[in-house]
Amino acid sequence: MGLKEEINRRRTFAIISHPDAGKTTLTEKFLLYGGAIAQAGAVKGKKNSRHAVSDWMEIEKQRGISVTSSVMQFQYGGYCINILDTPGHQDFSEDTYRTLMAADSAVMVIDASKGVENQTRKLFKVCVMRHIPIFTFINKMDREARNPFDLIDQIENELGIQTYPVNWPIGCGKEFKGVYDRDKRHIIAFSSDSEMAFGKHKVAMEEVELSDPALDSMLGEHLHQTLSDDIELLDGASDEFDLEKVRKGQLSPVFFGSALTNFGVEPFLERFLEMTTSPTPRVSSEGVIDPFDPDFSAFVFKIQANMNKAHRDRITFLRVCSGKFDKEMDVLHVQGNKKMRLSQPQQIMAQEREIIDEAYAGDIIGVFDPGIFAIGDTICSPKRKFEFEPIPTFAPEHFMRVRQKDTLKRKQFVKGATQIAQEGAIQIFQEPETGMEEVIIGVVGVLQLEVFEYRMKNEYNVELFKESLSYSHIRWIDNKDIDVKKLKLSSDTKLVQDFRGNYLLLFTSEWNIRWALEKNEGLELSEFNRGA
Ligand code: GDP
Repeated sequence: MGLKEEINRRRTFAIISHPDAGKTTLTEKFLLYGGAIAQAGAVKGKKNSRHAVSDWMEIEKQRGISVTSSVMQFQYGGYCINILDTPGHQDFSEDTYRTLMAADSAVMVIDASKGVENQTRKLFKVCVMRHIPIFTFINKMDREARNPFDLIDQIENELGIQTYPVNWPIGCGKEFKGVYDRDKRHIIAFSSDSEMAFGKHKVAMEEVELSDPALDSMLGEHLHQTLSDDIELLDGASDEFDLEKVRKGQLSPVFFGSALTNFGVEPFLERFLEMTTSPTPRVSSEGVIDPFDPDFSAFVFKIQANMNKAHRDRITFLRVCSGKFDKEMDVLHVQGNKKMRLSQPQQIMAQEREIIDEAYAGDIIGVFDPGIFAIGDTICSPKRKFEFEPIPTFAPEHFMRVRQKDTLKRKQFVKGATQIAQEGAIQIFQEPETGMEEVIIGVVGVLQLEVFEYRMKNEYNVELFKESLSYSHIRWIDNKDIDVKKLKLSSDTKLVQDFRGNYLLLFTSEWNIRWALEKNEGLELSEFNRGA
């Protein structure tokens, strides 16, 4: 297969959901249909060994949440699929944002009895910021579900996106018989061979025409009537299907099913793969980089530390944006201005890590990182030299001043704090004219402060003195030609620098931000680190 065909058949997407909506189960069923696992239950059953690979921290096990997101590749129907799993916990929205930077589209899983939930809303917002296509899978139809029209209304009203139901459920709970395919205007009826094997194997499907007289006996008179009424309503009321709008993230195709019993999983997968995009172009300092450009390029979107504690290694995850990667090739790490070979390039295939020889635009690869890469870095063919757009960082909301208890451990302290910051788990700030004796750590969620302290102790053997700070808002100073020392600031506002030397202000309230803007004419503040 040539470069073009390989890239064209790639589909790289993230699955987002509120915890418990069924993201893990749906992912597992995709793997089952892709032939990457022989029997469902394999993923769940291997949860412990899986934790050993992807969940590297005690704190995570104790809390039972997934701190980092993992990546999997499998094949289905000629497509090569990369699934990015996103952490569901609210503290890790930043990691999720970065994961979504690597995806070309998103699948939003919604629990049919609960509808849109808190975390769904937050994750959805992030997808909207990226303008990527969003597909909705309404899950758990094998349970008592809310009325499908109400669910659709809720998605439209609460999330503010138009929807297009691609299929429509026939019944719910024990009565969930199948879905109606609106495009082909036929019914896909599901049946499972036995209660015992429920969901472990692919489900049998039968296509039945809407006019088939057997429908009454198949569905029962009541469900048949409901379906006819629903179809009439749908055809009259819902938005037109428009692939352009889907591609821009303005219209979400909606599917119904049950990941647990496999009902509706395959119809979803097939249509989704057709509708979603192959790898999309990415913006760089040299303009738009076409995925089919033969020169290799990629960016770092995730760094996972210490998967193997004994070696204290890091795995850096790259999203390949153009061309083909070959493990023998030299590449340029643009930010480090260094030519190198990527060490131990690997991919996670279903649940196994494998060393790979090649990868194409759209793929995600993990490489061994001796501690040189940072989130957002560009790696490309040495023939070229450009930087992909920086990944914006979320404004931290919690701050803590820290220094090492044992002054002899200064080196470890600096190394640990720097490396953890490079991974993007925390942001480090310094007060002007102080060295790295003492730093201010900023995080988006408080759990990350605990994670930081835990890792400093366990991985770098450094105990910390900490002092919580009452700042809650941060703004980067955009003016380049301003004497920051002359700014008029209230006594509870603090001037700091990030590791690139940019100046920022820490505030205790919104009110103080307004005060600073009023007292300092021409001062320009921004909430995001634009990475400049
Ligand atoms: P995640 O937190 O979104 O990854 O959710 P999981 O996939 O771990 O599912 C949470 C719970 O819901 C588990 O007990 C699943 O077995 C169950 N579940 C997932 N999908 C379905 C479904 O389609 N129907 C029913 N009845 N239960 C489901």
